[in-house]
Amino acid sequence: MTDMRLIVLGASGRMGRALTRAIAEIEGVTLAGALEREGSAHLGADAGELAGLGPLGVRVTDDPLPLVAHADGVVDFTAPAATVAIAELAAQARIVHVVGTTGLSETDLDRLDAVARHAVVVRSGNMSLGVNLLAALVRQAARALGPDWDIEVLEMHHRAKVDAPSGTALLLGEAAAEGREVALKDASVRVRDGHTGPRAEGAIGFATLRGGSVVGEHTVILAGAGERVELVHRAEDRMIFARGAVKAALWGFGRKPGHYSMADVLGLQR
Ligand code: NAP
Repeated sequence: MTDMRLIVLGASGRMGRALTRAIAEIEGVTLAGALEREGSAHLGADAGELAGLGPLGVRVTDDPLPLVAHADGVVDFTAPAATVAIAELAAQARIVHVVGTTGLSETDLDRLDAVARHAVVVRSGNMSLGVNLLAALVRQAARALGPDWDIEVLEMHHRAKVDAPSGTALLLGEAAAEGREVALKDASVRVRDGHTGPRAEGAIGFATLRGGSVVGEHTVILAGAGERVELVHRAEDRMIFARGAVKAALWGFGRKPGHYSMADVLGLQR
């Protein structure tokens, strides 16, 4: 069987470089293109050299059209505007779009839903096995412990991260809300400052820390009267997300159109 041909969007970014390495190490996929935005300082660079692998003969370009026409999928950990733009092109070409980008608005998500009527989109705020397993555990814990237990999601990331709370924190908050059978948007408290009054009953709270080079740490705290349960995930290496994304692309290849999640890829029950 021939390899699945993948394009990396945002090839010079932290995740873009990790994706190039993951494609090189995983069997059944090959790097078919590397994209960056117009005016990027990395246009023309060899994607393999950017990723610390040595030359691969794939140059970074800002023109997606010729690449999309000769590829089977695009892996995308960039920014919301870039993700929405490539989603339209990927859907027209009927190629798989794996979306790791976080900070997408409701409107952005609606656009992805619309293109997923014609093409495979696999999107997750976290592509690691560990976090998706953690989400399943959080759902179960929230269901079992009930609304008397207060739920807080604490996260820390490196100083360059631009969105908050992290996509993973929101994914874990969603899992807690599902366990409680409430909508996260009705229950979430995303910031606290000043005289906030006592904690609202049933709230799912978020707290954000930023600093240094932390790849990603998440703790879901379930606090009851006189006892506390903490569920923790620590990401030590971006390669866990990159390998997960490549696995998601392979899973999506040849599948019927739809907007899928990493829980679908990993076969984790809801
Ligand atoms: P980063 O180092 O800033 O990389 C983002 C890359 O995307 C940069 O190279 C950026 O180029 C490029 N880009 C931005 N707009 C573009 C466009 N219009 N066309 C092509 N390329 C464009 O950030 P990162 O740490 O790799 O994170 C990227 C995203 O992935 C974030 O949303 C982050 O939260 C998310 N993430 C998700 C997971 C997950 O498992 N789902 C894991 C880790 C990170 P410039 O430098 O020129 O702007």
